[in-house]
Amino acid sequence: MQDDDLITVLDDEGEGALAPVETGWPVLIVDDDEEVHLATRYAMQTFRYLDRAVALTHAHSAAEARAILASRQDFAVVLLDVVMETQDAGLQMVRHIRDDLGMSEVRIILRTGQPGYAMELEVFTSYDINDYRTKSELTQTRLFTAVISALRSYQQIRTIAENRRGLEKIVHAASDLMELRALGSFAEGVLIQLAGLLRLPVDGIVCAQRGAPTGPADPQGLYVIGAAGRHADLVASPLSRVDAPGVVSAIEQCMQARQHLFAPALTVLYIRSGESEGAVYLQTDSPLAATDQQLLEVFAANISSCYGNVRLVERLNYVAYHDGLTGLPNRSCFIRDLDAVARAGEQVVIALLDLRHFADLNDGLGHDVGNALLKGVAARLLERLGGACRVARIGADVFGVVGPEAAVNPESLFEVFAQPVDAAGNHLPLSITLGFCRVLGEERSGLALLKSANIALNRAKRSLSESYQYFVPEMEDRSRWRLEIINRLRTDFREGLLEVWFQPKVQLRGGVCVGVEALLRWPGPEGGFVQPPDVFIPLAEYSGVIVDLGRWVLDSAAAIYPALRQSIPGELSIAVNISMPQFLGGGFVDEVREVMVRHGLPRGVLELEVTESVAMEEPKAVIGSLAALRDAGVRVAIDDFGTGYSSLAHLRELPIDCLKIDRAFIKDIAGGEGGMFAETIVALGSKLGLTIVAEGMETEEQAGFLRGLGCGVAQGYLYARPMRLPDLLAWLASRPRH
Ligand code: C2E
Ligand code: CA
Ligand code: CA
Repeated sequence: MQDDDLITVLDDEGEGALAPVETGWPVLIVDDDEEVHLATRYAMQTFRYLDRAVALTHAHSAAEARAILASRQDFAVVLLDVVMETQDAGLQMVRHIRDDLGMSEVRIILRTGQPGYAMELEVFTSYDINDYRTKSELTQTRLFTAVISALRSYQQIRTIAENRRGLEKIVHAASDLMELRALGSFAEGVLIQLAGLLRLPVDGIVCAQRGAPTGPADPQGLYVIGAAGRHADLVASPLSRVDAPGVVSAIEQCMQARQHLFAPALTVLYIRSGESEGAVYLQTDSPLAATDQQLLEVFAANISSCYGNVRLVERLNYVAYHDGLTGLPNRSCFIRDLDAVARAGEQVVIALLDLRHFADLNDGLGHDVGNALLKGVAARLLERLGGACRVARIGADVFGVVGPEAAVNPESLFEVFAQPVDAAGNHLPLSITLGFCRVLGEERSGLALLKSANIALNRAKRSLSESYQYFVPEMEDRSRWRLEIINRLRTDFREGLLEVWFQPKVQLRGGVCVGVEALLRWPGPEGGFVQPPDVFIPLAEYSGVIVDLGRWVLDSAAAIYPALRQSIPGELSIAVNISMPQFLGGGFVDEVREVMVRHGLPRGVLELEVTESVAMEEPKAVIGSLAALRDAGVRVAIDDFGTGYSSLAHLRELPIDCLKIDRAFIKDIAGGEGGMFAETIVALGSKLGLTIVAEGMETEEQAGFLRGLGCGVAQGYLYARPMRLPDLLAWLASRPRH
């Protein structure tokens, strides 16, 4: 044959091109007759099918063919000689290709030199042989038609197989993606699956969705939720941060048109489930084949429902772990973070931060301003501590911070709120109380750590002098004990085990009894008392039990009026102690009026004792109620006067009838200073026209001193201890009357 050059060229083309898809249809010729090789090559020179030539690979024996097939199997067609080394070498070759190598797609054309050789029909069908020709039949035209029909059938088989493989992958991808709960890993999974589907490197791909992945930042904005390859570091940032205008505009175009975008070098898939929309961008470098496009459409439809599920789970997670108002992590999330911190053995400090008087600000300025203030506090905390610490909203007006001691300490945190906080245009100065708990790498649950910090915070809130406290284990023992007392008080009260006792008040001149003070008692099962009022009243106030308890004391005290009236014909008052929570409940004034009516108390008999600190702490709330009570005929006394911080100016504003000098001053009378205080208070009280009652009167000396000052009434062990009603009535019977 003359075309040696051509042969070389063809050989060169075929050589080394492992995937010569673009260069020509890969065809393997197996024949022990060199003539056949040359003739075929020559005949196929002008061959074209779908604009592609053939790329021939030559094997001169079955053995050589096996060797070639061992290293590459991408042939579209094999032209196979039947008789080579042996009579059935070609048929063995067919078995090898189909059975051993599992090459089911390649088309096989058998050729034989002996026209009389009878091919077994069984071989023909079971080994999927396309054609069976004698070599003499292989004129150029016949060869062309045989190869074309083989290639056409090869291509159809390939397409079907590709589709099947693609669909299998999609089904797998979808079920794998279904498993992924987190949006980030879902997006990443999509990218990996797509890369596999299109045989692309995992790169050049960006996923975006409307709405920030971790919060309500810009609901219409596009954010990267997953990225791989060159865009990998952009995860969770706005799409605008992607430094490739082409990518950004392609994604925007897709989201706007709400459909897939297939461009020559890029593809953007539009995915949507309900309200959730997203786009998957991938760089393809060359146009996608029509079959690949179809696959991607099926893929997009499949992942859309996964996407919807993931978004839903994500949303539920977000709602479960975030505060709707500020967008900060909530209490559950904070506890989870603390769990992780404790597990990691990190040495950090937890701070709980309580906004003082938030309730007043909220009531006074309106809830909108209150909400704005909370958002302002959240923003301030994030701005100042967000880098080093985790910040959360733990309760209505309590925020949590956890981070290194250098950032989480009293000085730094007070400094954070040294400037007023912006709240809907108002610049509000804030004062805060802090509770700290150091995490020293010990094994404690997040919940336990939070509780400790909370105990410290409550300590700080109750303290008059300190605005922060660090947790120490003794606090916990104490708080457990306190909890037990509260629970027992609750049950004992419910079972009617508490009692109201009465202590007389007498006139310093003449010793006539002019009233009683009702005092709570908690008798124990073995005589004595479970706890004194000094201990359990503050706990009852702290836990709120005092509201029911106080209502019952008021009723019990008013109930003795008829009996008392018999024994005390003249001036008579029945005093009841009232705690702050009773005022705050609302409806207290009506309750008092109702009690007076029910027990037939005339005006001026019932006296309510309020401690100085109560009257001063929330003056506005209290003053209104006190004024209303006085209008209803109730006398108001300031209890423990002299121990608080009330200024004279304040005292003048308070609608009161009586001052009770704290027994601490009476006690000190013999020792100097106390006498001076008592003198000042008596003088002040007389000037304001108030009744003065001296508490804790134990000795004649004290009585004499106060009588000398012109103090009207006294109460104390000198006259009588608090007693049950029958004892009181017996005591009264032995006293001088008016
Ligand atoms: P308070 O209102 O200052 O009550 C007077 C306290 O002084 C009573 O203590 C009384 O027993 C005690 N006392 C009376 N005379 C003398 C005396 O000569 N010497 C000494 N050392 N003490 C005297 P008590 O009953 O232990 O009550 C303690 C506090 O518990 C009361 O102080 C009051 O603040 C509170 N409390 C008692 N009962 C009630 C109640 O029903 N409701 C409320 N909210 N608080 C109550
Ligand atoms: Ca009192
Ligand atoms: Ca008192």
